Amino acid sequence: MLFDTHVHLNADQFEEDLAEVIQRAQEAGVTHMVVVGFDEKTIKGALAIAEAHENIYAAVGWHPVDAIDMTDQHLAWLEELASHPKVVALGEMGLDYHWDKSPKDIQKEVFRKQIRLAKKVNLPIIIHNREASQDIVDILREEEASQVGGIMHCFSGSVEIAKACLDMNFHISFGGPVTFKNAKKPKEVAVEVPLDRLLIETDCPYLAPHPYRGKRNEPAYVELVAKQIAELKEMTYEELTKQTMENAKKLFNIM
Ligand SMILES: [Zn+2]
Ligand SMILES: [Zn+2]
Repeated sequence: MLFDTHVHLNADQFEEDLAEVIQRAQEAGVTHMVVVGFDEKTIKGALAIAEAHENIYAAVGWHPVDAIDMTDQHLAWLEELASHPKVVALGEMGLDYHWDKSPKDIQKEVFRKQIRLAKKVNLPIIIHNREASQDIVDILREEEASQVGGIMHCFSGSVEIAKACLDMNFHISFGGPVTFKNAKKPKEVAVEVPLDRLLIETDCPYLAPHPYRGKRNEPAYVELVAKQIAELKEMTYEELTKQTMENAKKLFNIM
């Protein structure tokens, strides 16, 4: 049984065949998922999907690329949603220096506000990091995010950055890129992450694992991520999936 901790089934790419995608996930043994919302539209979509399916949960937050659009009303709305029975985390939130729609200082402020909210409502946070590792680590430390912990999603940083995040009570989650032939760094990090802090995800429809690289990703493919990590950690697929399922349930406080 697999827990895909980061899916965007709320994306337009799944509008036409969502039921089939969920069906294929179940056939592949993906029994649990968290649908991540990151702006007004995708948060509503994540909640609708989570409400309609057993064992599908939602995370709600504001994406750093769109940080400039987040208002105080949005933040108040996130606070309200934190008590929704299917909301298990806040995010994704973080920093993304690849795109320049939102200036860095605004991204940082919106990130800090969401960490403070997570501490107030006591939910773990899901971190999006693109080309901003050091600033992410600094802000997590300054805001004492270790009080809530959470997930470094689709981790692509160095072993040093991973260790800094582990020290702050975070889990490291791997997605499709760990399966890429040339993915030296994620493979190195996967070997180092303690078993009780390891998670798997697809981030679908993005970042499909090998051999589907470049195609639309879907939750059923999380199996390929699990197989790759089991191989790297020299353990059986069953052991790996059991451990990551337990880790996710514990983190998200799911019985
Ligand atoms: Zn992300
Ligand atoms: Zn995502």
